[in-house]
Amino acid sequence: MDRTSLYKLDMTYATSHRLYAGGQWVNDSRSKCSGCDVFDESSEPKVIQIALNHLGRRGFVEQVWNSHSLPIIREDLIDLWQQNHLTGLDTKPVSIVGWFEGHRRLLPRSIPNYFRLITTSKVRLITPKPRGSPCRRCGFVEYDFPKTGTHLRNGIQIDQASWDEADFCGGMCQGVVDTRWTSLL
Ligand SMILES: [Zn+2]
Repeated sequence: MDRTSLYKLDMTYATSHRLYAGGQWVNDSRSKCSGCDVFDESSEPKVIQIALNHLGRRGFVEQVWNSHSLPIIREDLIDLWQQNHLTGLDTKPVSIVGWFEGHRRLLPRSIPNYFRLITTSKVRLITPKPRGSPCRRCGFVEYDFPKTGTHLRNGIQIDQASWDEADFCGGMCQGVVDTRWTSLL
């Protein structure tokens, strides 16, 4: 089988308030799996509510930084992916509900629509290696990722047998995308 290169879609873990709009996820009502204590993605609310902390100089860009590093993507980018029939993704609406602090401050007049990206196709990884066996209840696998800021020398390697060839796929709630589509990112 050919080696296929995929890119990891990385979210911004920290951002300067001077650069982009960002805020807090304020309606996190998720429950945890009783087997492994990891959040159950299916227990997320139907609409993700974000209360803004800052707008920054550039305001609303392609991604909204948020307290939980959710992949929150602007509508025009999602439209572009859907028009090109990229597979393996689903979306959920995001609502910018106000300011996290300073409740009397008005929201900007025009805020683009945003969606939370969900990867419907899941894969197993070969590198890094799993830590222990999958959770018996939910199947969650913890991988031996190095500390944030440390690079994996050979990148992430996916077990091809677990990949259904979807353009987007996730493992640990992270999306990766086929290199054919990087011009759309
Ligand atoms: Zn579990």
